[in-house]
Amino acid sequence: MTKTSADAGQILSVTSECVPLIKSGGLADVAGALPSALAPHGWRMRVLLPAYPGLAALLDDPTPVCDLPDLFGGTGQILAGTCGQTEVLLLEAPHLFTREGGPYLDPDGRDYPDNPERFAALCWAAMVICRDGLPDGWRPDLVHAHDWQGGLVPAYLQQAGLDIPSVLTIHNIAFQGLGPAERLQGLRLDPALFTPEGPAEFWGKIGALKAGLSLATQVTTVSPRYATELELPEFGMGLEGVIAALPRPIAGILNGIDTESWSPETDAALVANYTATRIEKRKLNRIALAERFGLDLGEGPLAAVVSRLTRQKGLDLLPPVIPDFLARGGRLAVLGSGDVDLEAEYAALAARYPAQVGLLRGFDEPLAHQIYAGADALLVPSRFEPCGLTQLYALRYGAVPVVAATGGLADTVIAANPASLSAKVATGIVLPRIDAGGLAIALTQLCDLYADPRGWRQIQKNGLKADFGWGRSGAAYAALYAQLVQERV
Ligand code: ADP
Repeated sequence: MTKTSADAGQILSVTSECVPLIKSGGLADVAGALPSALAPHGWRMRVLLPAYPGLAALLDDPTPVCDLPDLFGGTGQILAGTCGQTEVLLLEAPHLFTREGGPYLDPDGRDYPDNPERFAALCWAAMVICRDGLPDGWRPDLVHAHDWQGGLVPAYLQQAGLDIPSVLTIHNIAFQGLGPAERLQGLRLDPALFTPEGPAEFWGKIGALKAGLSLATQVTTVSPRYATELELPEFGMGLEGVIAALPRPIAGILNGIDTESWSPETDAALVANYTATRIEKRKLNRIALAERFGLDLGEGPLAAVVSRLTRQKGLDLLPPVIPDFLARGGRLAVLGSGDVDLEAEYAALAARYPAQVGLLRGFDEPLAHQIYAGADALLVPSRFEPCGLTQLYALRYGAVPVVAATGGLADTVIAANPASLSAKVATGIVLPRIDAGGLAIALTQLCDLYADPRGWRQIQKNGLKADFGWGRSGAAYAALYAQLVQERV
């Protein structure tokens, strides 16, 4: 029987981050937005994630629904509750998740040595939910796992003999969840999966992401361009061969953004709210932003970075070209933290040009909103970028993105050039190549475009009017789930 769209089915989402509970990057935004993106299509999604310290207290009506007496070295239980509109399942396992530090790193920035077991436990809990269901009778029709942390879900489903389709989404292939071979038994993996070049074997190590890629019913990633890039050695990070050989090609479904919590018209984090038609009010945010970073505004554009400070994000390319940009009247505000040497480089720039370059280290969600609302441009010169959300927030808030032509950046930004400018469709600036020279050219173009206020306003408005909500992508996931579930009926 074909299910109706009013009751398409039940999905278990397995993730290591989810807004508003815990966030270190874009995965959290996506995991938090998916349930309401799918609800209009009749899919009910519950989100399983670890109970990091303090999370249980954020749930409404937390209720224990499942005991896991033997969970990778200790006991665990699953709490069901809600957080806003989202139905959440929290995996409580103090021996694994009650830690000082972040979700993956200790306070000194090192991976927890038992990360393979910590997220194996998450995947195992997902399998138990599929196998036993929950006391309210809920049982998933499909599991949607995210990144390496969800990578062992398809393996555990297979080992348990459960015929439930699984989707694995790659948000960033650079993180593969590798563990030493001798932990295979502790990870409860069938040795048959760990033969040379077997699904869970990656150059002699246990590869959680590789296992997920190899065994999931369908692999997806977060933009069409990244889906094609992943088959190339420079992007596939050793998994390009596995990806090219998949029986079904990777589906590239662009991330959306939550247009309710990210709306310049209503966002409570902004100094001044505005719309495309009242865009002049934006300048109050610009002034406040400059004050917050201790900058005196010049004739040129105020550019910003909101990012992990890493080489992936191309942020080593920026410091060498900043003096020229400042000489043209530009200003730079940087929010982020990451590689120690990059942080030091930006700190040195800020010390050398105190009124022109500002650095605030750390993770600050309200400040990120204020930056998108106040900056003239957002710089995203990434070497690779599976989807990228910051350029989407920038477009939505009228900060013109300056991006590398890769992954989701290429899929979402319309490069300013004579044709797109005269057609009034340009939304941003695209680096001609991904190196410091290419970035310098893009910054020169930024200054030139900014110098023409009418043309500049048009570019901002084009971005503000673009639709990057979850509508299209929610429909794409819904169609994919329907197909996979239908295939098993
Ligand atoms: P990634 O997930 O690779 O880090 P994305 O662009 O997909 O990159 O998502 C980054 C998310 O994290 C965005 O929501 C962005 O606003 C947010 N973000 C990044 N750095 C910071 C920071 N220092 N403070 C606040 N939010 C940040």
